[in-house]
Amino acid sequence: MNDLSDDEVLRRLNDIARTDAPVRSPQCEARFDGRQCPHTAVVLVRLHRWGECEDPADDAADAARIDPVGNVTAYMCQPCSGQALIAGWKKIRELQERIPRNLWPIHCPTCKRPTNRGEDIVQIEAIA
Ligand SMILES: [Zn+2]
Ligand SMILES: [Zn+2]
Repeated sequence: MNDLSDDEVLRRLNDIARTDAPVRSPQCEARFDGRQCPHTAVVLVRLHRWGECEDPADDAADAARIDPVGNVTAYMCQPCSGQALIAGWKKIRELQERIPRNLWPIHCPTCKRPTNRGEDIVQIEAIA
């Protein structure tokens, strides 16, 4: 019938889980202080892997978290997604300091998407 390994089947199921709305609200996946946040997730955060968006995932668990355009995805509560966006803006400011102004607007060197605002690398989508 098919000769997919169990791991591959699981990975594909995870891929589906990442693109469809969850059946019930998952727990926030943020671990900003090392422990998983206990709150219910209300958004899906897509963090662009700047300059590495076309790199292969490290393992199957990673692959399940990476969407087709190279974003790491995580379900988060509202406060954690706010923190993620602040981190996105920090990353943008670092890039702006590092990259000479004559090369602006700044793009992801890999996929060429424009990356000039925190929202360009940290996308937040509501989940119902
Ligand atoms: Zn949280
Ligand atoms: Zn990219």
